[in-house]
Order: sequence, then C-alpha cells, then structure tokens
Amino acid sequence: MKKKAELVFIPAMGIGHLVPMMEFAKRLLNRDDRFSITVFLIKPLFVSSEYISYTDFLADSVPRLQFIHLPELDPPPSSYNLGNRGSLVSVLVETHKQLVKHTITNLFFSNSDSESAQTRAPLAGLVIDLFCSTLIDIANEVDVPPYIFFTSTAGFLGLLLHLPELDNQINTDFKDSVTELSIPSFTNPVPPFVLPLPLWSKKDDGYDCYLYHGRRFTEAKGVIINSFAELEPTPLNSFSSGRIRPPPVYPVGPLIDLYGQGHNQNQLEENIKSWLDDQPPSSVVFLCFGSRGSFNAAQVKEIAIGLERSGHRFLWALRRPPEKNKLHPPTDYVNIGEVLPEGFLNRTGERGLVCGWVPQTAVLAHRAIGGFVSHCGWNSILEGMWFGVPIAAWPLYAEQHLNAFEMVKELGGLVVELRLDYRGGEDLVMAEEVERGVSRLMDSDCGVRMKVKEMMEKSKSALMDGGSSFNFLGSFIKDLMDED
Ligand code: UDP
Repeated sequence: MKKKAELVFIPAMGIGHLVPMMEFAKRLLNRDDRFSITVFLIKPLFVSSEYISYTDFLADSVPRLQFIHLPELDPPPSSYNLGNRGSLVSVLVETHKQLVKHTITNLFFSNSDSESAQTRAPLAGLVIDLFCSTLIDIANEVDVPPYIFFTSTAGFLGLLLHLPELDNQINTDFKDSVTELSIPSFTNPVPPFVLPLPLWSKKDDGYDCYLYHGRRFTEAKGVIINSFAELEPTPLNSFSSGRIRPPPVYPVGPLIDLYGQGHNQNQLEENIKSWLDDQPPSSVVFLCFGSRGSFNAAQVKEIAIGLERSGHRFLWALRRPPEKNKLHPPTDYVNIGEVLPEGFLNRTGERGLVCGWVPQTAVLAHRAIGGFVSHCGWNSILEGMWFGVPIAAWPLYAEQHLNAFEMVKELGGLVVELRLDYRGGEDLVMAEEVERGVSRLMDSDCGVRMKVKEMMEKSKSALMDGGSSFNFLGSFIKDLMDED
C-alpha cells in the first residue's frame, strides 16, 4: 500500500514569496497523490485583498491543499526599523514560533482529544520560507525534517551561505572597506554596491538578520529553490565544490503563476488588451517595477522624457509611492496626468499607454511586447524569460541589484544594463540613460534577444518530463520519503 504523507508549508507574508511556494505546492501535489499539504499563514502587518482572495481560491480549487490562518499576535514594537522588510518578517515569524509548534502538535501529535491527529497522514516535513529559518528549531522539537524554500537566485543563496565567513574575514562595513568581494557562487568579483542595502553596514538591523539566516540554512535537510539548473550552473555547482557545503539543493523552477491568480487579476483590462492588440508584434516596451516599485516626481519626469525621446511604443505601469517610512505598497494614481510632464499624454497618446497595476504575466504573454524594463525582482526575471521577452535592468530594492548583476555580468549579458546602482532618494536616472537603455533593449538585433529566446526554451524543457527541474522534484520526493 502507498505510504501517505503530509507536509506543513510556512510562507513569508508577502505575495512575492507566497506565490512561488504555492506553485511548488501545486506541482508536488500534481506529481504524487500520496501528499497533502497544510499551509500555515501568519497574518501580514498589512493584508492586501489579493492575499486573501488568492488563498481562498487555492483552498477551493486545489485538492489536498488546505490553509490554517494562525491567530493574530501583537505586532513587533513600533521602534523597529520598518524600512527593512526581511528583518520585519523574521521578527514576526519569531513571535509566532510557539504558536506554530502548538498548532503542529495539535494537528499531528496529540494523543487523545485531537481527532485530527488520529485521522491525518503522518507529518513528513516542514517547508519554510527563507525568512522563517528560526522555525528549524520547531521542526527539530517535533522531530521532522526542515526544508528551506528559497524564493530568489542560487547566486543570492550562495552569498547568504558565505556571509558568516565574509563577516569573519572583513571587520568593517563591506561598503567602506573593500572594493570587491569574492563569493563562491559568483565567477566575477562582486562590488559591494550590488549587495542588498542591509549588508552595506554591519550596524544595520538587517545585517544580523541575513547573517542569522545564512548560518541556519546549513542546518536544514534541504533547500528547494525557484531556479533551474540551466540558468544558474555556476552558483548551483559551487554548492557541491565549495568549502561551505549546504544540504542538498533542489532547483525546481521556474515556479511561475502563469494565470495571474496570485494577483486576483488574470484578465487584461479591455482597454489595455485592445490597445496592445493594435500594436505590431514585438514593438512595445513594457515598464513595470514589481509590487513595491515607485518613483518620486523628478524621476517620473526623467522616465517620461526618455521614453518620449526614444520614439518607441510603450506600456508603463506607473504607481504612486507610499508615504515616507510606511510599509504600505504603492497605489494607483487617480489622475495619472498629475505627475507626468505637461502635454506628455497628448503627445505620446498614439504610441503609449500609462496604467497602474497590470497583470504582468498576461502583458508579457502578449505578442506586441518586445522588451521589459524591470526592477529585477526574481519572479519578474523568471516571467520575462518564460515568455522570451528581453529585460533591461533597473533594480530598486531588496536583492534586486544582485539579481541584475548576475544576469548582466555573470550570465554573459542575459539582460541589458540600464542602471545597476540606482538607490532611489537623491539618485536620478536621467532621461538620456532611459532613452539609451530602451533603444538598446528594443534593438531587434540585440544579442540579448537571442539569448533570452534560448533560455525561454530551456526554462520550458526544465519542467517537462525528464527535464532538470522535473528530476530534482523527483529527487526531493525520494529523499523526503526515504526511498531509493
Ligand atoms: N506584478 C503584476 N503586476 C504589476 C506588478 C507586479 O502582476 O503591476 C507581479 C509580477 O508578475 C510578479 C510579482 O508581481 O509575479 C512581483 O514579484 P517580483 O519578485 O518580481 O518582485 P517584488 O514585487 O517581490 O519586488
């Protein structure tokens, strides 16, 4: 008889982390009907409607997948540095640790009163987001293997694993003390300015947070990563040859929400769709900067002027920044013309459309799209590649500068460089840079276009029966179930 097993998944709060983890859950459940999965949801500080509707939708439509919304606890102290999402999430998870243990014990291990514990399949493992590594302790206490679910690049995983060693080697802040860092998951020396901001200074709250996670990853039973062998051979190989040996790494990606279900919006609005339908194939540059990307008024003007001068057709997802130091995501403008240069909408009306949030995968899938100016969030890079759309890199926050560096410098120019060192605030990417970046991106002969098409084929093959990610998923199942 087949041995049934259940897994508990614990995502970080944030749609960009939840969606790839849920894509992995769906793939695992599709692949092997012995599994069922329960997802524990820690309430984010700001719950967006999409978060709720997405999990409700999955609970209704995916067999053997259920959700438990953990009770809300007190938020972290307001003195906490709210600008750093990674450490905020980590603190929130820390406060939920005992609650997680209690919920697992009730569901799976209680002897008498818990009906659930008697009827459920045995708990085979805990799959936890990279920012939840403190829950390795809980996995150990209930004696099940912990697996880290890593939502970014293997290059970044390599950096975090190597961080404790770098911390020992270099006594002062990386940003001031060295011009380049040697990191085993990168072939080229890495300039400190492409590190995530919290790693610039050892005094930053986020620095210790990253250091902590990097140390703890080595205690996991395995790391499941949203990447694929053909895309990141160097970092993935570095794990088996380096001095720091992580547990087995399973690249099972790309894990993409192709139908936009995570954003409760899989349909392109009619006006955008009909506008795109009227444009020639591969003629439109799409500008979109993730769930948290926005610009101040001066930067918006430079982009507008650069776009206008480039002469290319464009679709621009432009969003209003949140108030200073607020964690709320950007919102859509009520009157988009208010931030654009005077007359811009009239002058470019024939060849451009400015909009708010759009379902990105539906846009990238449209035949009119010929280029993508992106903040280089990892989901966005994987999506661009999946649809064979070349990307121009304009990283904004989190680990996006490192992602962009890897794509531009390490992978032989898989992405066009627009600007690698932009950090918001006083910094400005001038109209000329925008114009130049867009023109290079839309150049039909650009080598990047061919490389991206090749990678598009590889990303699809990786998921097919016998492909690299398909096989790694098989290895994960075997290791988990202790099968030969
Ligand atoms: N996204 C979207 N429409 C938008 C902006 C973003 O559908 O206007 C989606 C995009 O398809 C991707 C996710 O939001 O799946 C953003 O994830 P990513 O890792 O690229 O960046 P993050 O938002 O986490 O910085």
